[in-house]
Amino acid sequence: MAILTRTKEELASALAGLQGSTALVMTMGALHDGHMSLVRAAREKADNVVVSIYVNPLQFGPNEDFDAYPRTLDADMALLDTVGVEVVFAPTDEAIYPRQPLVRIDPGPIATLYEGTTRPTHFAGVLQIVHKVMNLVRPQYAFFGQKDAQQLALIRTMVADLDMPVEICAVPIKRDIDGLALSSRNSYLSETERIEALALSQALNLGRDQARAGGSPQQVSDVARGYLEQAAGVRLDYLSLVNPDTFEEITGDERPERALLVCAAWVGPTRLIDNMEVEFHG
Ligand code: AMP
Repeated sequence: MAILTRTKEELASALAGLQGSTALVMTMGALHDGHMSLVRAAREKADNVVVSIYVNPLQFGPNEDFDAYPRTLDADMALLDTVGVEVVFAPTDEAIYPRQPLVRIDPGPIATLYEGTTRPTHFAGVLQIVHKVMNLVRPQYAFFGQKDAQQLALIRTMVADLDMPVEICAVPIKRDIDGLALSSRNSYLSETERIEALALSQALNLGRDQARAGGSPQQVSDVARGYLEQAAGVRLDYLSLVNPDTFEEITGDERPERALLVCAAWVGPTRLIDNMEVEFHG
């Protein structure tokens, strides 16, 4: 059974009882098999696994789904017990932000692109909480999902630029059998929307296949974007081929060594993101 801690003091005393290395998995709860693949990877890597569950108000914009976001702590604890973790940190808002923080992390230029265009304050809020929880847990390893690829790039950048003593470990996207990337926000989708949402992964697959067939970066993003633009029930936010570290757009005919096709779209009122690695040969 994991020790459930709600304050910094409870967390500190639970951590004091651990021996050996520690891996941290940070989540907003409403856990699904995507989160659990991070927990399983953490379990393999370190002697101890700490999972944080916190719906961080700082990373939600004023018109976003902070209040509606699912909160399912009892079910989350039960799921975590199926793998076995040492400590769960599910703090109250007062424990994390006793007042509005005055010192803020400036996430820099990567945070202004793509997700940052639609969600301008999102990544500053993400890095604020990631930095805080890493300072509280002081893990050797921290696991993040490739699902949130721009977040992952920003966390790697923060850890490098601030010399944070932690190794960032990335875990591939976990998908449902029909291709939909697992997400806590999938619970917002109606039955019809759930089917319409498949267009995201289908578009990314088309792009990846286009590259395999010898297509240029421009052709890859054109074919994937074209598919998503005409998909029923889907309103495209962005679809681009980018460098996975810098999120700079890759266009033209020159084939890059590494590339990530990233997209975001609304399906009904729900905003979903997805991405896929694309390999160019020759
Ligand atoms: P969240 O609770 O949405 O903040 O996600 C917590 C962590 O789980 C982040 O590192 C996410 O990238 C990761 N994650 C969420 N969904 C998936 C998924 N389908 N596959 C892999 N990792 C995921």
